[in-house]
Amino acid sequence: MTRPVLPADVDFGAAEQHRVIIIGSGPAGYTAALYAARANLSPVVIAGIEPGGQLTTTTDVENYPGYADGVMGPQMMEDFQRQAARFGAGIRSGIVTHVDFSERPFRLVVDEEVPMAADAVIIATGASARYLGLENEKRLLGRGVSACATCDGAFFRGVELAVVGGGDSAMEESLFLTRFATKVYLIHRRDALRASKIMQQRVFDNDKIEILWNTMVVDVLGQDEVSGVRLRSAQTGEERDLPVGGFFVAIGHTPNTALFKGWLESDAQGYLITEPRSTHTNIPGVFACGDAQDHVYRQAVTAAGTGCMAAIDAERFLAAEPAA
Ligand code: NAP
Repeated sequence: MTRPVLPADVDFGAAEQHRVIIIGSGPAGYTAALYAARANLSPVVIAGIEPGGQLTTTTDVENYPGYADGVMGPQMMEDFQRQAARFGAGIRSGIVTHVDFSERPFRLVVDEEVPMAADAVIIATGASARYLGLENEKRLLGRGVSACATCDGAFFRGVELAVVGGGDSAMEESLFLTRFATKVYLIHRRDALRASKIMQQRVFDNDKIEILWNTMVVDVLGQDEVSGVRLRSAQTGEERDLPVGGFFVAIGHTPNTALFKGWLESDAQGYLITEPRSTHTNIPGVFACGDAQDHVYRQAVTAAGTGCMAAIDAERFLAAEPAA
């Protein structure tokens, strides 16, 4: 593996030294912080590009246990943060731009210039849903545009919906949405699906799903909320508007793990590999949790669960090893 090098002008002689640094501030990061703080490890969370993670782009969260009446995503992440801070977790804004895991203490650079060092590192950088990149898609995010049917599907009862994508996620999202929608248009840019045969068959067998083949979404329509999508035929270039009450993007996720390339083992899609039933990566003392290492469940509650595991794994690792 080619290992990235740290910027030469960052002076590690002046680096802040911590027992545990947690990279990322979604449910996994804050839960790891809560447990590490309660274990007297005085963890520091580097909150990252989107403090609070993916949940800050959702509206109501109704499937997180304990919030019986539901909660707004940003509020929930504020609650997570407050709970971790209450036990002494430090929370810093900033982005970790470089890491060096060659020896302990591990070295990190925040915002290209601030040196930090830690005896253990917990990675909770999450994954980002991929979007088409349309201006109105971004503007209407959370107002009819969603990348998570499990999170938002139930808000779209009795309306027609559109899903874009041709992989297993798009099949799963479309099938899930038929529970609420009167009809689901599955829009795919080619004439063959990428999804597994079994998932394809379930879609073909579902009367509520209509597949629009060789079709691209070129715009999302609506003032305050989604009222439709503009489609373009990949064969003729012809455009037409399709009225729908919601638009689900299911074209894949990208784990936020590029920073660790050269240090940590990942699968073909970039998800960090951890030892079975643990959060240990291939480097002792570096732990990974949440969506950065899980492409299967990708739920806030499962991310929080693995965040707890990472803190316990880190605590046991540090108890067994003297501080570097
Ligand atoms: P994926 O397999 O990479 O599929 C992404 C789909 O989105 C492809 O059909 C692709 O089209 C389409 N796409 C990508 N960029 C696009 C764009 N700009 N415009 C329009 N369409 C675009 O991603 P995924 O479905 O999220 O699945 C990721 C992995 O998780 C896969 O290994 C999958 O098997 C697994 N997964 C499994 C399950 C399950 O088993 N229940 C559920 C979800 C995910 P093309 O086909 O033309 O490239």
